[in-house]
Amino acid sequence: MKITDIKGTVTLNNGVHMPYLGLGVFNAKDGVEVINAIHWALDAGYRHIDTAALYNNEEGVGKALRSHTVVSREDVFVTSKVWNSDQGYENTLKAFDLSMKRLGFDYLDLYLIHWPVAGKYKDTWRALEKLYDEGRIKAIGLSNFLRHQIEDLMQSAKIRPMVNQVEFHPRLVQQDLINFCHESNIQFEAWSPFRMGEIFKVKELQPIAQKYNKTVAQLIVRWDLQKSIVTIPKSVKKERIISNADVFDFEISAEDIACIDALDRNDRIGADPDHVDF
Ligand code: NDP
Repeated sequence: MKITDIKGTVTLNNGVHMPYLGLGVFNAKDGVEVINAIHWALDAGYRHIDTAALYNNEEGVGKALRSHTVVSREDVFVTSKVWNSDQGYENTLKAFDLSMKRLGFDYLDLYLIHWPVAGKYKDTWRALEKLYDEGRIKAIGLSNFLRHQIEDLMQSAKIRPMVNQVEFHPRLVQQDLINFCHESNIQFEAWSPFRMGEIFKVKELQPIAQKYNKTVAQLIVRWDLQKSIVTIPKSVKKERIISNADVFDFEISAEDIACIDALDRNDRIGADPDHVDF
């Protein structure tokens, strides 16, 4: 990944360009809160929004993108995800239609299987392949898939997933999974890059950030990008949305990257993908 600016992209295995920095909107309330957050993000130059049916804010996401006065929908990369209870072939097709209705879009940039629901994700993938073949989605991918689940899916898949979005932050690096995705030409994407806000309690990050005259949030976003990882930090606060993306005027040294890597404790804040019972 050549890191240039906030509108910089990675090229997925099907040639689609995906902005490497986006705004996550989990826990952003539908209506004014999510609409404001997206408008501030677009004003600041973000061109990538990550939502999901589960987040109950697809309507607001769609409204925000349709109502911005300068940026048009086609200039923004939008991801949504099929929720666990909607998995299976027919259910996924229905869930996709409902997401599109709420968003008010005629195509989606990226649609992900939110979690690897055992016994269902292969049928769910067939539905994503159909929607992709029909041109309704520009790219399809996975979320929260471990290596063995990707390998299992690939046995029957006609289309190679373009993305795997998983929990990733300095307390959970999963280097083997990163390597596997890289070798398989599947773009690795980080969710909860700030460990849902908990990462700010890791005191070792503060002096490293200070060295570069940056905040810990900026340091982490930059660490993601220098590792060629797409990242979607969430905030609903204007100042934070702007400052989290102010990461293109510094370079973390290899030595400091290694110091951040060493904070890994293989410690999840979210669920274990081998135990999806929700
Ligand atoms: P993040 O790791 O992005 O952390 C968000 C938290 O950090 C919020 O409480 C936010 O508060 C706070 N915050 C943001 N910027 C700053 C800052 N500069 N200084 C201090 N605090 C800050 O958590 P998320 O779980 O939201 O992950 C990001 C996105 O990843 C989600 O929004 C969603 O799109 C996606 N995701 C995907 C999952 C999946 O299963 N595929 C699971 C979880 C998330 P505030 O808003 O008040 O600023």
